[in-house]
Amino acid sequence: MQATDHQEIREAVRRLCADYPGDYWRDLDNDMRYPTEFVAALTESGFLSALIPEQYGGSGLGLSAAAAILEEIQHAGCNGGACHAQMYVMGTVLRHGSEEQKQHWLPQIAAGKIRMQAFGVTEPTSGTDTTSLRTFARRDGDHYVVSGQKIWTSRAEHSDLMLLLCRTTPKEQTAKRTDGLTVLLVDMREALGNGMEIRPIRTMMNHSTTEIFFDGLRVPVANRIGEEGKGFRYILSGMNAERILIAAECVGDSKWFIEKATAYAKERVVFGRPIGQNQGIQFPIAKAYAQMRAAELMVREALRRYEAGENPGAEANMAKMLGADASFEAANVCVQTHGGFGFAQEYDVERKFRETRLYQVAPISTNLILAFLAEHVLGLPRSY
Ligand SMILES: Cc1cc2nc3c(=O)[nH]c(=O)nc-3n(C[C@H](O)[C@H](O)[C@H](O)COP(=O)(O)OP(=O)(O)OC[C@H]3O[C@@H](n4cnc5c(N)ncnc54)[C@H](O)[C@@H]3O)c2cc1C
Repeated sequence: MQATDHQEIREAVRRLCADYPGDYWRDLDNDMRYPTEFVAALTESGFLSALIPEQYGGSGLGLSAAAAILEEIQHAGCNGGACHAQMYVMGTVLRHGSEEQKQHWLPQIAAGKIRMQAFGVTEPTSGTDTTSLRTFARRDGDHYVVSGQKIWTSRAEHSDLMLLLCRTTPKEQTAKRTDGLTVLLVDMREALGNGMEIRPIRTMMNHSTTEIFFDGLRVPVANRIGEEGKGFRYILSGMNAERILIAAECVGDSKWFIEKATAYAKERVVFGRPIGQNQGIQFPIAKAYAQMRAAELMVREALRRYEAGENPGAEANMAKMLGADASFEAANVCVQTHGGFGFAQEYDVERKFRETRLYQVAPISTNLILAFLAEHVLGLPRSY
């Protein structure tokens, strides 16, 4: 058994998830409500502070433990999208925050008193082209004054802290386009109504995403993470972890779809025999299984390298792409296997189908992963 298996953690997560069955998620989905009870249970059990070092009140586990937790959440039919950001946003604060900041924030997060679930990078005009973002933080004494707009800032209404990437030097005045970006930790409890406004965006799945408007929001300089102007590097340093964790979620989704499809194929009888006796039903499920296993292997390889202190940029990206492809393929097969019932809410298949579709686009789209591989692994000319 590999160290990355974390069987005890997996079993504990499964037990917790059993209290949040399909009808819990269905009701939330119908009303577009946040899974407050589920997130509270995960927090109380310490799963969301798995990556916080013990000296700050967390369990000090490695990324493979976080991956196991998120995979099992998805595998159980739940939705980790409501709370996964804390796990990967944490790394930026851990690696680049000051000792004072860590001592101030991390124990509160570990104790479940506050949440750090919001990550403000994407903007409506710049999109994937992060270095073109326009939200600007102007220095004014011991504060920054922030103006601009973010979009798709998920969980903002359910988070106390937001990691915000903004410009502190206009792009035209920097030597490199990746310079002049700065990370601020925004205390959203103070910011709301004082220069920050949040507007929810309804999406095809229940994701609590929002757009955020900043108009003269004052953020103490003490809340800057690391040095001014180096924020892009800090965010980038967390990307491998983010990709690996999302890939693990996709593997969990794939397993849920494959098990659901297999069970239904065995039990549904048409023309006097189970539909699963037909190769036309069996083969797509078997293929989805093989794709899931391949993605799972790549997740493990990315985790192995990550935990050995290497920079698994290629593996993390490939894991994310293979995982997202595997989960969407498994989702499609699951709908097809269920025939008309795949579209009925009470089977949860259509909900999970909508939820897993996101991972082809966010947090990074498939095209951008292919562009990364083309440029950084294959040495082809940069396309953008
Ligand atoms: C539900 C949801 C939640 C999200 N949560 C967050 C969050 O919490 N925080 C946050 O900061 N962001 C978040 N995002 C934003 C997400 O990361 C972006 O949507 C994603 O990175 C794509 O950016 P975009 O939507 O601006 O697409 P665009 O950049 O406009 O791209 C549109 C399409 O064009 C393709 N494309 C663009 N440039 C190229 C190129 N050079 N070559 C080939 N193809 C290209 C893209 O792959 C994409 O398919 C979320 C998005 C969604 C939908």
